[in-house]
Amino acid sequence: MNIRASGYAFFHRPSVALAAVLTSAILWAGTGFAHSEQEEGGKSRILTLKLRDFKAQMRELVEGGYDIAGANPSASTVDIVQRINSQQSFNKEIFGQVIESKIIDTAKAPDVGYKTSVEVDEIVHRLANNYPDLVTVESFGRTHEGRDLWAIRVTSKATQKSGKPVVFLNALHHAREVMTVEVALDAADYLAANYATNNEVHDWLDRAEIWIVPMVNPDGSNKVWTEDSMWRKNTSGSDGVDVNRNYPYRWNQCNGSSGSPSSDTYRGPSAGSENETQAMMALVGRIRPVYSISFHSYSELVLYPYSCDGEHVPQREVVEGGGKAMAQLLPSDGGGSGKYAPGTSWEILYAVDGGDIDWMYNTHNVIPYVIELNSTSQGFQPSFSTWRNKTVNKVRAAWQYVIRRALQSGVRGKVTVAGESIDDAVVRVISMTKEGDAGQMISVKGDGTFHAVVVPGSYKVVVARGERTVEKTVLVGGDLVTLDVAL
Ligand SMILES: [Zn+2]
Repeated sequence: MNIRASGYAFFHRPSVALAAVLTSAILWAGTGFAHSEQEEGGKSRILTLKLRDFKAQMRELVEGGYDIAGANPSASTVDIVQRINSQQSFNKEIFGQVIESKIIDTAKAPDVGYKTSVEVDEIVHRLANNYPDLVTVESFGRTHEGRDLWAIRVTSKATQKSGKPVVFLNALHHAREVMTVEVALDAADYLAANYATNNEVHDWLDRAEIWIVPMVNPDGSNKVWTEDSMWRKNTSGSDGVDVNRNYPYRWNQCNGSSGSPSSDTYRGPSAGSENETQAMMALVGRIRPVYSISFHSYSELVLYPYSCDGEHVPQREVVEGGGKAMAQLLPSDGGGSGKYAPGTSWEILYAVDGGDIDWMYNTHNVIPYVIELNSTSQGFQPSFSTWRNKTVNKVRAAWQYVIRRALQSGVRGKVTVAGESIDDAVVRVISMTKEGDAGQMISVKGDGTFHAVVVPGSYKVVVARGERTVEKTVLVGGDLVTLDVAL
């Protein structure tokens, strides 16, 4: 808490980050906010552009290295963060109207209610102390600047010790997206606090483990609090790396990231180069979630894999069905009948490569989502007193949906050889009702378990280890079916 007392609101840094990459800029002297602000190095503006052709122009903005803050696809608008002393400007012929320009003093820290990395450290340990039978906290890695990465595990320690399905929630890949930390911490607190009195929460924690990482990028967060409230990346290398363009699956493969270190979507010097990425990969590989939600802001979207143009996952019914169901549970900040919009990133916004959800799905069969919190009216750092509770309360419906779903229609079991669980078998779950279904391929976890979320129907489950295979059939209804297999 104390660090807020120091007078860093007066800190100013020369802003060179964006100017270097904006090669396609042509001076546009449209409404005149490009004058007389040249001296103010600690300020940025958020420009809202009305696009004529949303998809095509979003692609041009991404490829031009612009810092896209958020978008409203249905209104065909996009918000761009622009350093005031950058040479960046917009060709009106290409990008259309600038309909709003908001000045942000980036040297001013976010609303004091949001959490710093120091506060997150305190909160997670307090939670573990307050709920010793439910909450475990561990450091699963360390950042470039030496900060711990904290993971909270919430589950009833009195029930089954291992082998429970895992749901994973994480926040703050991007440093300026401060509301995401609130959602993650609220989830941990809500689950622990309601175990004793709420029957459903009690059942969840008896039968599942919820893993929560409230701050993937504490170094970037520190920079947000002390230097630049619009900072997005971590702080490694010369100018930081976008951790959510650094995962190895399809890294630098589909024009969904930048190779320029000064860009806000810089993918890093190599695939998985960053401490945060490596720590997340190791954690996910160990806990092997059934579902994951990565919280971001803003735009009121529910995104699912894959994120390169034209690509869909094989299990569309389950993956996209879950995303659409969650979006329906999330009303817009603006009220009325508006809801969050579901889709892949390339369908709704633009192509992304090196993002966590594609890697999680492809590598570990996790069903992963990105939820972009809050509307374009609220932006990255909405008023804490007005928006914090509203947002965390509403988003409970989404993360509760995946916990519930992980315990419904699916096949789960343990693979053993001579009574001992093994960790080197592969399980294929193939639909017998869907013609030509290739099935889901799942390698068993370290504890010998596997978990396939499916829609109700009959399935062939083939367990293989080397030459040895065992085949079973199973009828799945609304519940999770247990199918232990002795090889
Ligand atoms: Zn983000």
